[in-house]
Amino acid sequence: MKIGMIGLGIMGKPMAKNMLKGGYTDLLVSDLNQAAVEEVVACGARRADNREIGETCEVVMTMLPNSPHVRAVMLGEGGVSAYMKEGQVFIDMSSINPVASKEIAAELAKKGVEMLDAPVSGGEPKAVDGTLSFMVGGKQEVFDRFKPLLETMGASVVRCGEVGAGNTTKLANQIIVACNIQAVAEAFTMAQKAGVDPQLVFDAIRGGLAGSTVMDAKGPMMIAGDDRPGFKIDLHIKDLNNALDCAHSVGAPLPMTAQVQEVLQWMHSREGGQKDHSAIAQYYEFLTDMKIGR
Ligand code: NAD
Repeated sequence: MKIGMIGLGIMGKPMAKNMLKGGYTDLLVSDLNQAAVEEVVACGARRADNREIGETCEVVMTMLPNSPHVRAVMLGEGGVSAYMKEGQVFIDMSSINPVASKEIAAELAKKGVEMLDAPVSGGEPKAVDGTLSFMVGGKQEVFDRFKPLLETMGASVVRCGEVGAGNTTKLANQIIVACNIQAVAEAFTMAQKAGVDPQLVFDAIRGGLAGSTVMDAKGPMMIAGDDRPGFKIDLHIKDLNNALDCAHSVGAPLPMTAQVQEVLQWMHSREGGQKDHSAIAQYYEFLTDMKIGR
């Protein structure tokens, strides 16, 4: 199967490498960042432009920052879809607004090109291990056809409904992650101010009801003061903007999300947008004039 993959960033690069390892070796790749392209080419892929990817690949995949990037790459001037024809498939693995997923799918449908929206959760470590969780929207038969391909990158591949359902599920995921990170930072701050070591709080409660994958991944980073991304605050702001947009359009209340978004925005305004989202803890550190765990 000939595959085109566009977007070789923190996530897309290891995902492309895992497709190669999984036996999908006829892989054409592209990114604005030539160093990333060279690294994946060194593993067995081949560099290609939009025309070659669109004209020759059975499936075109993207892992780009947000909706405007996916629109530009696929539907913009000289975009990939200009070269695609009936029967080809587009799988977008980026986390974008589900409304945009549906709009892009509708444009592609005019050419007979099917689309899956297939965002992931798990972050860079799971992208490297090939153990991401995929949440997928699109037709059942298209999902069934490409599930083995997604399984070279993910431990879990679940169809959540029609196109847009993958990104709606991803927004739900991002709400839970952001609120959970803030709850952990807030709780650690309270414990330390009350004279209890956050490390001991973490050790004592991680096996109980308050324990979570988020706390296991981000608690130690807060305690160590390690804010290297991981998942950048600016990307989480993007996701929560999409969640708020989506919620407003369907009439769902998101008061907790709106509140975490303000804390993330405060971090962004203090030039923290490129830090890991666990750096939400720095908001509490600023307010209390102390360092969590230190
Ligand atoms: P990133 O910024 O590291 O990578 C994006 C890549 O897209 C970059 O290499 C960039 O050069 C490339 N790009 C941008 N515009 C392009 C264009 N017009 N043509 C070709 N290439 C272009 O981002 P990332 O962390 O890899 O995230 C990608 C997506 O995955 C985002 O939607 C993000 O929300 C989502 N995601 C990220 C994580 C994470 O932990 N990093 C986890 C789950 C989901």
